[in-house]
Amino acid sequence: MNPNQCSFCGRKRSEVEILVSGNDGFICNHCIEQAHTMIAGSLKDGVAVGYEIEDLKKPREIKEFLDRYVIGQDQAKKQLSIAVYNHYKRLLHAGVEDREVELEKSNIIMIGETGTGKTLLAKTIAKELNVPFCIVDATILTEAGYVGEDVESILSRLLMVADYDVEKAERGIVFIDEIDKIARKSDNPSLTRDVSGEGVQQGLLKLLEGSIVNVPPQGGRKHPDQKYIQVNTQNILFIAGGAFDGIKEIIERRLNKQAIGFSSEKLNTVGEEDYVLGHINAIDLRSFGLIPELLGRFPIITYLDKLTKESMVRIMKEPKNSIVNQFVELFKMDEVDLVFTDEAIEAIVEETIEKGLGARGLRGTTEKVLADYMYEIDEHSKIILTKEAVLQRLS
Ligand code: ADP
Repeated sequence: MNPNQCSFCGRKRSEVEILVSGNDGFICNHCIEQAHTMIAGSLKDGVAVGYEIEDLKKPREIKEFLDRYVIGQDQAKKQLSIAVYNHYKRLLHAGVEDREVELEKSNIIMIGETGTGKTLLAKTIAKELNVPFCIVDATILTEAGYVGEDVESILSRLLMVADYDVEKAERGIVFIDEIDKIARKSDNPSLTRDVSGEGVQQGLLKLLEGSIVNVPPQGGRKHPDQKYIQVNTQNILFIAGGAFDGIKEIIERRLNKQAIGFSSEKLNTVGEEDYVLGHINAIDLRSFGLIPELLGRFPIITYLDKLTKESMVRIMKEPKNSIVNQFVELFKMDEVDLVFTDEAIEAIVEETIEKGLGARGLRGTTEKVLADYMYEIDEHSKIILTKEAVLQRLS
């Protein structure tokens, strides 16, 4: 093997900038670049172009991936896995000529208290699929012509995370947070116009319907003369999330009215809340103030369980990048061996539950507990975090 030339193109060492050696040959920077372009071209969105149904991860496999990052929430994970699988099947199907049946998209609404893992689920799915993903807060959106952001700004963000690759953005996932905050204020299609709520819902319809939308590249209306980018939203998956405070009472009222398969004994058993939420449907969301047209575009409604103390403890310890693992890693860099006792973790969880922030508060509590240790970090030492140490630092 000639050590002075590229084994692929034959360029001499003097003709290239870099020559990388391998076991049985050499490759130059030109060939590396070319190979990279070929790979990037055939692997779009993490799913190879021209993929077949066999190449798709099955719902069960998608859920297994979610299990690594998200604790509990089995029913939401299942529904999300099915929806994503079907979404990709739909994309396959759309490529088939002469098809008689057209498959429609299934956007998803997730209902659950703050900090139960809605955003995490959506984010994790996007990571698994390697598609562009963005989060938008529905509360910043307003009807065109009012102060705030137009709904099109959602697509500006998606374009941005897709590095302005329109084709890539067109297969992305958008997570619309706090969808409940744009509910109509009363169930009654009102006499006075409801700027913040219904108008925004109407605006969102356009994106959800799967149409070609003119998107200002920078978002907003501040540059009236800028060119628009056309984005087809047909294959963008929308996942909406919200806490929907008070939805439980709405469901209960409906169930009591129907009084079928629903007795007051059942209501008094443990897990009552989850039991009621398990019956949620579009009628309840409509009573809450989402307009029927919008609900029609979100055929899948799923809910996330309230986090129990046990699940919060698991969240501390189990996910791939759990809080415990992260801090152990951080201390390891100073060769400090940090050990959380089970009682210490429980104490952190109990304190966080009191704050009512859901799992979101776990990190903050842990930071607070470990602040002194981080300040006075002592290389090559061992720290065993006990319940007493936690309580003392939180008092
Ligand atoms: P929300 O439901 O308000 O969207 P998030 O998904 O943003 O909540 O959760 C906030 C944080 O809490 C996450 O980043 C994650 O660290 C943690 N968390 C919440 N729920 C779970 C869960 N079920 N499993 C693992 N971590 C969770």
